[in-house]
Amino acid sequence: MKRLFVPALILAGMMTILAWWKGDRKNKIERPRIVVGLMVDQMRWDYLYKYSERYGEGGIKRLLREGFTCENTLIRHAPTVTAAGHASVYTGSVPAINGIIENSWYDREWGRKISNVEDTTVSIIGMEDLMGRSPRNLLSTTIGDELRIATQFQSKVVGVAIKDRGAILPAGHSANGAFWRENSEWVTSTYYMDALPQWVQDFNAIDWKEKLYPNGWETLFPIESYTLSSADDKSYENAFTGEEKPVFPHTEASISQTPFGNTITFEFSKAAIEGYGLGEGDHTDMIAISLSSPDKIGHRFGPNSIEVEDNYLRLDRDLEEFFNYLDERYGRNGYLFFITADHGVNQSPGYLEENKLPYGFMDKSKVTARVEEALRNKYGVDGIILSETDNQIYLDYDILDGKNLDKREVSLFIADELKKEGGIQNAFPTDMISSVTLPDRIRSMVTNGYHAKRGGDVFLIRTAGYKWGSRNGASHSDWYPFDAHIPLVWMGHGIPRGHTNRTVGMTDIAPTLGALLKVQMPSGSIGEVITEITDFYQ
Ligand code: ZN
Ligand code: ZN
Repeated sequence: MKRLFVPALILAGMMTILAWWKGDRKNKIERPRIVVGLMVDQMRWDYLYKYSERYGEGGIKRLLREGFTCENTLIRHAPTVTAAGHASVYTGSVPAINGIIENSWYDREWGRKISNVEDTTVSIIGMEDLMGRSPRNLLSTTIGDELRIATQFQSKVVGVAIKDRGAILPAGHSANGAFWRENSEWVTSTYYMDALPQWVQDFNAIDWKEKLYPNGWETLFPIESYTLSSADDKSYENAFTGEEKPVFPHTEASISQTPFGNTITFEFSKAAIEGYGLGEGDHTDMIAISLSSPDKIGHRFGPNSIEVEDNYLRLDRDLEEFFNYLDERYGRNGYLFFITADHGVNQSPGYLEENKLPYGFMDKSKVTARVEEALRNKYGVDGIILSETDNQIYLDYDILDGKNLDKREVSLFIADELKKEGGIQNAFPTDMISSVTLPDRIRSMVTNGYHAKRGGDVFLIRTAGYKWGSRNGASHSDWYPFDAHIPLVWMGHGIPRGHTNRTVGMTDIAPTLGALLKVQMPSGSIGEVITEITDFYQ
């Protein structure tokens, strides 16, 4: 009797502990170990499918097979540029609220043009002569900030990209770190830390060009098999510096200008995951990765080039490798993954011309000079145009005041002058957006893109197919679907399989993440939760 009593007592005790532990676990919110956000700079939605014949089973095809794809995801603001796109995804907001209206803008408080991540109070560790950078120009919180707030800053959040803005804006204000590349090295800002971590120094010590593409960039498959793209040598492509023609193999391209820029970004992300021990603590961590190279390749060669096709075929393989890494580290359900883009891109004017599609290009300095001359003739004064971006013109208020000129009248005059250009479909004073005759979607995108303190005085909309500059290369920043229709696919931790063709917005990503993680949506969020995902989230 006595012999049985002791083991029974131990067993009962263990069961009590087990019940308590289970109960405690049950009371804990079910969150993934890590959120992995991936933005592909300049990725159009149709790239998910255009090259799919040669995608492997474990990359983009796996995403579409195992995940949930929002097929009709649109950007809610214009202009559609990198800084604004990255800020919008992670804040669930728009430039009118989060303040990131462009990659650079004329800032009336600073009295000059500034970069979106410019901060004179900090510096890049080890490169103090370069411009200091931080997320301080971002005026709302990110979903990473909210995750940190919700866990008393025990969750870790890190941003990684070749471009500064691709790392800094998504990571948010309270991030543990954001890392990008300057002068072929991964760097960070004194905003986050005082010294570059040892694992970053170790990473920088490796000769990545020698490791990844010692013979230059060659096509993954025989070049004659790239039948979905234009011929390799086209007059409307831009050659790399040091190369005579825009053709393979590319021996002079730096790593960030090739698909190997994606590979190195994934490799650095893995080093960051291991360096910070992401996904190993008691609280959910987050890594915000952005691949900058696809944008550089697309601008140079245009979206119908073999270079862009090769970029996505290689990216698909990198993605498969990265998913295998995440599977092994966290288990297939241990991480929550999403992929999206900051904007798309239009075809090159040269390509459009060649194929009888609407096209055009304008020399911006000539257009500005003509408007300035008209202003001089009309008002007898120089310098009314203070600054400009791709889509906005800023007026010099001191000159207007000095001449006693009415801002609205001068703005209307400039808008009328701009509309004389075939490549400018519409132009109007920014304080008249609500009364200009515009389709609802365009009005709402322009309104969302206008920030009262940072925006210009005249907004212009280009004619579809028109590009500033030459007929060569490609660009983006318009409201049109080629720039505004982006991929959005979710996978991993509890995400149901499926798709929706309902229109959702770039601004819906952050509030949906908030709903999935059970944390507050960011401070400037105006998006809606994508309930097709949250209602079936397990
Ligand atoms: Zn971009
Ligand atoms: Zn771009």
